[in-house]
Amino acid sequence: MKHSRRIYLDHSATTPVDLRVVEAMNESMLEHFGNPSSVHSYGRDAKEALDFARISVARLIDADSDDIFFTSGGTEADNLAIIGYCERNRDRGNHVIISSIEHSAVLLSAKVLESRGFKVTKVKPTPSGEVVASDIEKAITVGTLLVSVMHANNEVGTINDIGAIAKVAHAHGAVFHTDAVQTFGKISISVAEMGIDMLSLSAHKIYGPKGVGALYIRKGVSVSQRQFGGHQEAEIRPGTENLPGIVGLGTATDLSRNEMTTEAVRLRQLRDALWSQISNSLDNVTLNGHQENRIPGNLNITFKGVEGEALLVALDLEGISVSSGSACSSGSTTPSHVLTEIGLSPEEANSTLRLTLGRGNSMEDIERTAEVIIKSVIRLRFMDKPFQDITSGRYQAVRA
Ligand SMILES: *Cc1c(COP(=O)(O)O)cnc(C)c1O
Repeated sequence: MKHSRRIYLDHSATTPVDLRVVEAMNESMLEHFGNPSSVHSYGRDAKEALDFARISVARLIDADSDDIFFTSGGTEADNLAIIGYCERNRDRGNHVIISSIEHSAVLLSAKVLESRGFKVTKVKPTPSGEVVASDIEKAITVGTLLVSVMHANNEVGTINDIGAIAKVAHAHGAVFHTDAVQTFGKISISVAEMGIDMLSLSAHKIYGPKGVGALYIRKGVSVSQRQFGGHQEAEIRPGTENLPGIVGLGTATDLSRNEMTTEAVRLRQLRDALWSQISNSLDNVTLNGHQENRIPGNLNITFKGVEGEALLVALDLEGISVSSGSACSSGSTTPSHVLTEIGLSPEEANSTLRLTLGRGNSMEDIERTAEVIIKSVIRLRFMDKPFQDITSGRYQAVRA
């Protein structure tokens, strides 16, 4: 299959590293390679770069830079917040509330807590994928220590009113954590105004490197460390800092802050154009998640009667990378828990694609993607006919 260039539409899985980030990381490795704990000038240079990145990250979420702790990514930040906070404060309660559509880093942290005697309540979202504050409130009990609800869902893209959820948590003496990996650098966040006590973020979803992220922890909120060693990151997360990664995160953060507003407008336009081209040309397609209140570049579409994995592969053959509504593990497909929680049947979930747009995408990409999707869906729906039809000349003609 010939195609002029590949089109990447899986930015919620990861993003290409911005060249400006690569350059900053190169400089960090080549010139500021010192250990930030060293007293000499190499150490001081490295410490300065570390502080600089911390200030960048803090500024984008309206936080104090002392409250930013670098981690190995979003997963570790979620683990540290949820397990670390509950372990540290278990004398004050034994109940945790999360939503049922959290990322596995949160779901499995809650599961670890369950195995250690905590009680976990999973609150269901609305059919548009929104986790509602009043539903959280109904789940709160006297022993509720922590409420953790993601800012926006990584599959359907729906954005939650986390300010309202934080308010409910605080009214009942609980602390509020949010997994903001999908919104950090994409939509504005103020931990001060929203009343967020802990927030997880990751570099590789915002054109930074993989393996680095951060946890914001409001002063006065204490967590148990889950890693032991030196004095780095206020001993909450010891070990010599991943300086090139942290510099990459800081640079990616600055770029996102500068470009966030215009990029959000641009991505919404591209996304809406893609959806209207697809929905105008195909029957039986539905847009999952909230119709307006969603991350700028996210589309999550069910193509009834089409195997999502087959469509994904058809697009991949044309150089277009997307992801599907199911996790393929050891040959069998399991429908996404997010899609089934918002009310899709397993068949519908397995007929779903997620397309997430980003910095490198243009209107030309969108037009080509729409064209290939429309063509492939028509072909795959036709293929689903009885076997005789598939082997007929008619099918051969369509496939050729
Ligand atoms: C990607 C992602 C994570 C995990 O972050 P890593 O840096 O890959 O560990 C956690 N939560 C959400 C919502 C994500 O999208």
